[in-house]
Amino acid sequence: MKISVVVPCYNEESNIEPFYHEMKKLPEHLPLDTELEVIFVNDGSRDNTIDEVKKLAGIDPVIKYIDFSRNFGKEAAMLAGLEYAGGDYVVVIDADLQDPPSLIPKMYDIIRNGDYERVATRRVDRKGEPPIRSFFAKMFYKLINKISDVKIVDGARDFSMMSRKMVNSVLSLKEKNRFSKGLFEWAGYKTKWLEFKNHSRNAGSSKWSFWKLFSYSIEGIVSFSSYPLVLSAILGVFLCVISLFFIIVIIVRQLFFGDPVAGWASTVCVILFVSGLQHLMIGIIGSYLARIFIEIKDRPSYIVLETNMENGN
Ligand code: UDP
Ligand code: MG
Repeated sequence: MKISVVVPCYNEESNIEPFYHEMKKLPEHLPLDTELEVIFVNDGSRDNTIDEVKKLAGIDPVIKYIDFSRNFGKEAAMLAGLEYAGGDYVVVIDADLQDPPSLIPKMYDIIRNGDYERVATRRVDRKGEPPIRSFFAKMFYKLINKISDVKIVDGARDFSMMSRKMVNSVLSLKEKNRFSKGLFEWAGYKTKWLEFKNHSRNAGSSKWSFWKLFSYSIEGIVSFSSYPLVLSAILGVFLCVISLFFIIVIIVRQLFFGDPVAGWASTVCVILFVSGLQHLMIGIIGSYLARIFIEIKDRPSYIVLETNMENGN
């Protein structure tokens, strides 16, 4: 049996060596007949990540690499790894040792001996993370689980092991706007969740700025829910009901009190409010449209500059 370990890397030069060290410890905890391949996907790093990886690949045939022509994002890196992986089981794991590689033997044990197709992980705390980021993350999980059919576990990591069957199912989802946490859930299959405490990054800094995370969360919502589109209709009905009420009030007032024109300010407020809502709704429709546009252009999710692998599929 073969396990492929997919490692997306963006500016991780000082983590490659320690990560490799952890990988070297794995075989002694795995059954003897287990073959290992470690696929570093260099996502257009601006530092010496690729040199570090190639150095290791030169001395150890277990080390494979896929070097992108530029930074395509973690989603693209994971996709490339899954596409190239030849293993019967595939692990996705971060390069910064925030996901403990020591869990891999346990995952393998569960997936091989149980009837699970996936062993996934979630963090039980968010220690060491800025509070504002934790707050928005919590809000995001609440929101997406309310408005989407696909349930996403709070604190779920991308760190997981999947069977070949599940990997093939995930790869059959051809969308370009990829939100893997959702795709994995969408594919279904019985999943075992393991929990672990948050570790801080080994070296370097997080690649996710607040805005990058924000737009990633919008990605998740737009990809997995059409509820925001319905919102427009709901608000429309709501505003109609309110305006009907005011029309009646104004007619009655006119009939019984003969009120002259009054309330220029309130008129302007109403116009501003309603046109604000309209713009918001156009924006929501626009974000769906933009994604349709990207899908329809059908560009590849990534471009490979160099690799020492043959595409497994
Ligand atoms: N990563 C990537 N491409 C990117 C950003 C991140 O391949 O554009 C990789 C990064 O090298 C790391 C993993 O994705 O292995 C998780 O990134 P990071 O540690 O910055 O995220 P965090 O742990 O803060 O959520
Ligand atoms: Mg990290």
